[in-house]
Amino acid sequence: MSLLHADADCFFASVELQRRPELADRPVAVATHIVMSATYPARARGVRGAMPLRQALKLCPELVVLPPQADYQSAGEALMGLFWRFAVQVEPGSMEEAFIDPGDADPVATAAAIRAAARDELGLPVTVGVARTKLLAKLASRRAKPDGLLVITGTEEARLRATLTIDDLWGVGPTTANRLADAGVTRLTELEGYDEARLRSVVGTAMARRLLSIRDGTDDATVRQLGPRRTVSASRTAMRPSSRWADIQAHADGVIDLALQRLAESHDGQAVTHRIDVQVTYADRGQWSTERRLPTATRDRNVLRRHCREMITSSGVQAADRPVLLIMVAFRLTGVSGSRQQNALPLF
Ligand SMILES: [Mg+2]
Repeated sequence: MSLLHADADCFFASVELQRRPELADRPVAVATHIVMSATYPARARGVRGAMPLRQALKLCPELVVLPPQADYQSAGEALMGLFWRFAVQVEPGSMEEAFIDPGDADPVATAAAIRAAARDELGLPVTVGVARTKLLAKLASRRAKPDGLLVITGTEEARLRATLTIDDLWGVGPTTANRLADAGVTRLTELEGYDEARLRSVVGTAMARRLLSIRDGTDDATVRQLGPRRTVSASRTAMRPSSRWADIQAHADGVIDLALQRLAESHDGQAVTHRIDVQVTYADRGQWSTERRLPTATRDRNVLRRHCREMITSSGVQAADRPVLLIMVAFRLTGVSGSRQQNALPLF
């Protein structure tokens, strides 16, 4: 049994290149004054995400800089739709990566077909890892980047597990890694003498179980449905990040309307919400977020629009004088439970 981890390469930049194919071999970055996404020719010159643009241009003076303009959310939805055509189950990890259960189909042939379809139909390079468990499939896709396909077979799995370092395990944060390092553990094999009780005293119960399951090869190998849709959200990236209040309000109104439209379309028009989340990302990557609980659940557009606008107006965004890059509005749906998702391991 094998599963796939499919991950679009430099997603934001690749989406922008859909409209600028002539730039495919050039070093390209999607950036405001911070780099959001860099193509592999740019990465070869040292350009990285979250790097100040000025620094990126110093490393690579011929860098082609594109402002974030495309509709990334729609591109992500198209990608997930494509994954579903080759899958019996898809578990998204973000808007541009997912675990895929190919069912009875040959997993390697499925991986190749997904890569070809994503390139031909969407113009997106997608790297795919194939392995028995999620951790190994994700590790495979990470090692196969960019635009690659890597299969970890059963015989390779045992050998690979023995070489894993704690840093290779995603979802293990720096605090946990430091505690393990203090206990003399930087490689998975160094957990050899540990049982759960001993490891628990170092990293806590949940992480101890997770690490031991990885050591023993019993880590998660199931692609799960993330349950019924519990939230409806919309987000938009500003073409030109602005700190002008009128621009921010217009930007917010567009996002609010899109979220309201998605709410109206979900669950056959019967969805209601009792909680609103608003998140603002500044061009310098700083974030502000807030939530509001409503006294009664509703789907009334005017009521929800008023709440959303109030949340943004009463925030510090107006006075912050920082260019706003992205605004996200989410409605938590009432009466839709999704406990499986809540109980899932923090894999990302
Ligand atoms: Mg990616």
